[in-house]
Amino acid sequence: MTIKFKDVGQGDSILVTWLIDDKLHVGIIDCNIHQDKTNPLLLELSSMAIETIDFIFLSHPHYDHYSGLEELLIYCASKKIIIEKFFHTCSPTEEFLRASVSTPLEDQTLASLWARIDALEGSIIQSIAMINEASGATTLDGKWKFVVLAPAYREQQDFNALRISQPKAAYKSNLLSTIIKIYSPDAYILLTSDAEHKTFKRILMHRMHAEFSKLELLLGQVSHHGAEANFHEKFWKNQKHNKLSPMAISVGPNHYGHPSANVISKLQSHNFKVDVTMLNSSAVSTALSSISTLAPGSTSNDLTYSF
Ligand SMILES: [Zn+2]
Repeated sequence: MTIKFKDVGQGDSILVTWLIDDKLHVGIIDCNIHQDKTNPLLLELSSMAIETIDFIFLSHPHYDHYSGLEELLIYCASKKIIIEKFFHTCSPTEEFLRASVSTPLEDQTLASLWARIDALEGSIIQSIAMINEASGATTLDGKWKFVVLAPAYREQQDFNALRISQPKAAYKSNLLSTIIKIYSPDAYILLTSDAEHKTFKRILMHRMHAEFSKLELLLGQVSHHGAEANFHEKFWKNQKHNKLSPMAISVGPNHYGHPSANVISKLQSHNFKVDVTMLNSSAVSTALSSISTLAPGSTSNDLTYSF
């Protein structure tokens, strides 16, 4: 199995691929348009000879995670590529979607995406499922399965409460972020989108998570593009890992100060190897001693991990 964090500037596009009997299978988590207006994940997908996508996740309704998704769906429709499962964490009512975003562009893009998803259901999109911590596991192949650890009922309720009390607080959509655990009998990978600090705290207390923690963490994604507020140091410290276990940060030029130099140095102090899709930031250059390096002549810095 290969997991690739596409360099999409500020935002997420993750491509998961695996083979069953020499047939390539594909899963996608989020799809963002780069600031240079390209859609790096779609560009890569269009070079692959596939007839089916096993799953697409919309991790949570924030623009830097869905801005390229409608374009991807239009491409799939034009090539008659079947999407077996479309997973999301939204309740797709107009009121709900409007409460997730902060600008007219984000609002219009999300409404248009949702209209497209609805229109394609039953044709190329075979099934749409709102997913949460209570949803069961999905099998990828003989070795790997995945399950979501978040959002749970708690985060969905907290989002709903904020949606009513602070209708303009678009940041609250991070409460709906998926944490996807891809696991084998002895190891696991955590893809955390923009999950909140308190979500990690809940999982840390969870009995089921203690069971999973006996396995080895092979790869983690640092939540919310390396933001300090979302970083739960104890959570990551408690994950069984070896010195080379990578922690990926997908991030591009932004005015939020992502990624936090403090988060990077704390992860390194707990023996993680930190990889960042964006290399030219002051946080990265001051805090990193062992980051992935850009290949000569390469203009993007995709992070690729094979297991
Ligand atoms: Zn984000």
